[in-house]
Amino acid sequence: MNIKNYIALAALLPITFATAVNASAIKQTKGDFEDKFRQLSEVLPTPNVYRNAAGEPGERYWQQRVDYKIKVSLNEEKRRITGHEEITYHNNSPYQLKYLWVQLDQNIFKESSIANTANNFGGIGRRGPYTKAGDKQTPAKISLGELRRQQFMADNNLGYEISAVKDNKGNQLSFTIVGTQMRIDLPKPIKPSDSIDFSIDFAFNIVEEDAVSARSGYEHFPKDAREGGNDIFLLAQWFPRLHAYTDYEAWTNKEFLGRGEFTLEFGNYEVEINVPADHIVSATGELTNPEEVLTKTQRKRLKQAETAKRPVFIVTEAEALENETKGTDKRKTWHFKADNVRDFAWGSSRKFMWDAKGYQQNSNEMPQVMAMSFYPKEGGDLWKKYSTESVIHTMEVYSRFSFNYPYPTAQSVNGPVGGMEYPMITFNGPRTKLQDDGSRTYSQAEKRFLIGVVIHEVGHIYFPMIVNSDERQWTWMDEGLNSFLDGVAGREWDHTIPWGVEPRDIIGYMKSENQVPIMTQSDSVLRLGPNAYTKPAAALNILREVILGRELFDFAFKEYAQRWKFKRPTPSDFFRTMEEASGVDLDWFWRGWFYSTDHVDISIDKVYQMRLDTHNPDIDFARLRDIEQNKPSSLFVERNKALNKELWVDRNKDITDFYDANDRFTVTNKERNAYQKLLKKMEPWEREVLARAVKEDNNYYVLEFSNRGGLVMPILLELTYTDGTKEEQYIPAEIWRRTPKNVRKLIVTEKKKELASVVVDPGWETADVEIENNYYPRRIIPSRVQAYKAKKSTDKVKRDIMQDIKTELKPVDDEKSDDEQEKGN
Ligand SMILES: [Zn+2]
Repeated sequence: MNIKNYIALAALLPITFATAVNASAIKQTKGDFEDKFRQLSEVLPTPNVYRNAAGEPGERYWQQRVDYKIKVSLNEEKRRITGHEEITYHNNSPYQLKYLWVQLDQNIFKESSIANTANNFGGIGRRGPYTKAGDKQTPAKISLGELRRQQFMADNNLGYEISAVKDNKGNQLSFTIVGTQMRIDLPKPIKPSDSIDFSIDFAFNIVEEDAVSARSGYEHFPKDAREGGNDIFLLAQWFPRLHAYTDYEAWTNKEFLGRGEFTLEFGNYEVEINVPADHIVSATGELTNPEEVLTKTQRKRLKQAETAKRPVFIVTEAEALENETKGTDKRKTWHFKADNVRDFAWGSSRKFMWDAKGYQQNSNEMPQVMAMSFYPKEGGDLWKKYSTESVIHTMEVYSRFSFNYPYPTAQSVNGPVGGMEYPMITFNGPRTKLQDDGSRTYSQAEKRFLIGVVIHEVGHIYFPMIVNSDERQWTWMDEGLNSFLDGVAGREWDHTIPWGVEPRDIIGYMKSENQVPIMTQSDSVLRLGPNAYTKPAAALNILREVILGRELFDFAFKEYAQRWKFKRPTPSDFFRTMEEASGVDLDWFWRGWFYSTDHVDISIDKVYQMRLDTHNPDIDFARLRDIEQNKPSSLFVERNKALNKELWVDRNKDITDFYDANDRFTVTNKERNAYQKLLKKMEPWEREVLARAVKEDNNYYVLEFSNRGGLVMPILLELTYTDGTKEEQYIPAEIWRRTPKNVRKLIVTEKKKELASVVVDPGWETADVEIENNYYPRRIIPSRVQAYKAKKSTDKVKRDIMQDIKTELKPVDDEKSDDEQEKGN
């Protein structure tokens, strides 16, 4: 559009526009006015020497460090862990510490835990499929899964058995267990810059993951050829871990309730894992004694895998199947070393096959990373083809947005956990299904689930395993950021797969009643999936694609990742960095998307076309006559005409006067003189502006918008002209800064560019929940009736085309007997 006359015209607007816009359309801001652009500094913590106003680690930033040396033994028969850990705690804080707080996550399974005793029946509690808040039917039901959990918990002695806590001279340290936490009292305080060595002896019975849903545990395979079957063990939250001690909260000693994940310190780990000799172990870190636990052939294959084009089997399927059939009394100890990690997890089973492929990156510190997958035969082709490749794809994409992958291994392990992340190792659930003909197939949904979950969990190795946000407090900082990036990586894998991070994917949730702001502590969040994953991911998607643009967003996001790599960011550090590095005030965006439950619904209510009042009576009176003559005539007149009723004036044409040749729009010299006088009184610049505006005879359109959802957002416009051309316009969110509920926009176009229609957000880029009020004029609403609606869930999950394609087509006559058969099953 042409806006060069905008300022001069604005000055003339109040007096010269013939068509007035209804002045009451903009509501008074008195009363319920809310400043959607109020600066966030009132809400964010005051910057200090530890975290500065730019969102960077401050000049005196510190964090604790905790090193672990652990010896652990797995008793396969008893499904029991026994361990001894030696811990070195480095106090880098400026404060003395009289006691240390340790996380005892296994204690969540004790009957007396807060998680068990404060479980709101039918409410939203544990991890897993959420229960809709306010769903009145839920309290009447108890699922078999819930019963299985209760039975398992009743039958097993769960939680930690802590047999000793000692200093490095072997003296007992006194300790107090508080639910899932333990306070260790020190004989004398640890001074700043000092460290302390102590040890803990612990043991616990491993939970059955499928029964309790714990992010770790064992899975039993009773049908395996070996007598008694086999297990896969996934061990996480398995050793007593230090709580984080931070500049913003001191000890982050908040009881583990099952939802909010883990707030941890970085450190170096040396872990010796003693397991049955026929087990294959996958763990955080690098294997340091391959010659003791791997055969010569396996070591040779590992070497080959480093430069292979496709993953190489270290343990083949045939070897894993052979392993599965027997057992052994012998034991082996696998040694792992991991530097600068915040946690340690591992998996162990004789069922594992193992493939690997080297990932080369342009990095001096870590030029090669081994991407590896461990899975049983149940993983089948799905795992062989896609697991390790997905691990590598994740590193390629995430590194571009953050930093090179800093660890020597990145692993994907199949077991009973649907999806969970730890440093260098992830647990991923999808599998294939054994069919009657002995083949293994999987549904398209399972395939997408595998690729998606591997990308997501490996992505977590960056956020929050390296950019170490506080998961117990703010789930969105790891899940939201990670879902945003897994959406980028996923769509770069295959954009035809729905990844669930587009603005349109969050509309249903944004409209819904049961929600809390994203900035809510993890355990109190309603509907964790959309709240902590999809909404922040969609918000960041909008921030990148619509508001900042890719260049500014990617620069700022990478700055955040690099500033906080191996450090502990808080939400304010993210908000501040994104603004400081992009140069764009985003307080309104954080306020709307992260601190409120408002949604986006911008409506275009009216479009006015206006014309300039030229003050020249010969022009203006002629226009007024046009308007008059274009009005529809009355029904009375039309009907009389149809009846050929002759008017009195037509029947008596001999009687006429002046008014038969002139109407009220006839211009007289009186008006012409007045016009000349007006021109003379004008300043020269006013005359010039008016003359030019009259000559150009532009179109002036005033577009009226209302904000019905509350969230202020940019207005994305598509203008269609009567000549068929289209134009896109971007109105920044700041248009709402004084009147957040109603705004107007003036659009000036050349005379021949007449506006035919306007659409707000035509590409569905802003999560606007009501599409129909985005059209001006309103459109006929397209049908939402689907011609064919598949039964719920069948086509998403159960429809296994790879298997179903083998079905023989039966003659129509057989249909009846087939139906009856199905009923009998
Ligand atoms: Zn996640």
